[in-house]
Amino acid sequence: MTTSVAPPIAPFRFFDLTVLRTRRLGPSMLRVTFGGPGLDGFAAGGRDQSLSLFLPHPGQAEPIVPVGEDGNWFATWRALPENVRAVMRSYTVRAQRHTPDGATEIDIDFALHGDGGPACRWAAIASPGAPLKALGPAVEDNTAIRFRPPQDTDWVLIWADETALPAASAALEWLPAGMRARAWLEVQHTEDRQALNTAAAARISWLVRDEGAPSALEAVRAAELPEGTPYAWIAGESSQVRAVRRHLVQERRFDRRRVTFVGYWRRGMSEEQLRETATAADH
Ligand SMILES: Cc1cc2nc3c(=O)[nH]c(=O)nc-3n(C[C@H](O)[C@H](O)[C@H](O)COP(=O)(O)OP(=O)(O)OC[C@H]3O[C@@H](n4cnc5c(N)ncnc54)[C@H](O)[C@@H]3O)c2cc1C
Repeated sequence: MTTSVAPPIAPFRFFDLTVLRTRRLGPSMLRVTFGGPGLDGFAAGGRDQSLSLFLPHPGQAEPIVPVGEDGNWFATWRALPENVRAVMRSYTVRAQRHTPDGATEIDIDFALHGDGGPACRWAAIASPGAPLKALGPAVEDNTAIRFRPPQDTDWVLIWADETALPAASAALEWLPAGMRARAWLEVQHTEDRQALNTAAAARISWLVRDEGAPSALEAVRAAELPEGTPYAWIAGESSQVRAVRRHLVQERRFDRRRVTFVGYWRRGMSEEQLRETATAADH
């Protein structure tokens, strides 16, 4: 007798994305909606689901990522000259939908920052039909979701700046009805605030830099926090993230295992410089 076992699905693989449309959400945020047959099999798990985008350089018709048969794309990609190989950047799947005709669409929200790196510049002029590649999830439960409150969580603390606003918004949407949440969301302009959808018992404070809002640390430090067992998720500019984490663990005595913290960007460093710094620190 022979039995056949379906091969396991790789949790991440390359997808071809095509820009369908763009929409301005505020002065600093642009939503790009992607679709196309290359998205078949894409399986975002919600919350802070992240993916790697591969962007073309100006003048290139499409991003250059040599996806080899042996799966070792990284070494092949790295071996190409920097001005040829696609620019790799991390982003969040703000939402995934299936249209009535069965097609898959995803939204990615780009914070348009003044320092304008390649991703930000690409998004600002993206138009329907533009191609991108993404290394993204093919199964819903995958390691690129970090927002994971333990079972015994009584309440959730969130701090996010605009780069982590898509993730924080999706996490708030995902929280169960009635879960207590205290969130601080930092943006540049008053008009960058967004309507959020959550069934959680969430108290949300917008920290608008134009209005002279306190820093992440000042805002969280001044707050009276709920009673009970917390879970914290903090993401955005690295130094702010580190300051809030240190405050929660050292001054508020949060169990460090219940604090998820992710530096999404660091002032004055591009994402590849940040990656290289992290790799050097690992060795
Ligand atoms: C897991 C993860 C998920 C992320 N999800 C999102 C997302 O959904 N939406 C989103 O907009 N970003 C997201 N980011 C952050 C994004 O990857 C960085 O902001 C990235 O640096 C943007 O690439 P770039 O090419 O525009 O700029 P880079 O070339 O990387 O940087 C150029 C310069 O711009 C500065 N810079 C980068 N971002 C900002 C900013 N927001 N404000 C001011 N200066 C900045 C850098 O410090 C550098 O000096 C995510 C990051 C991670 C790690």
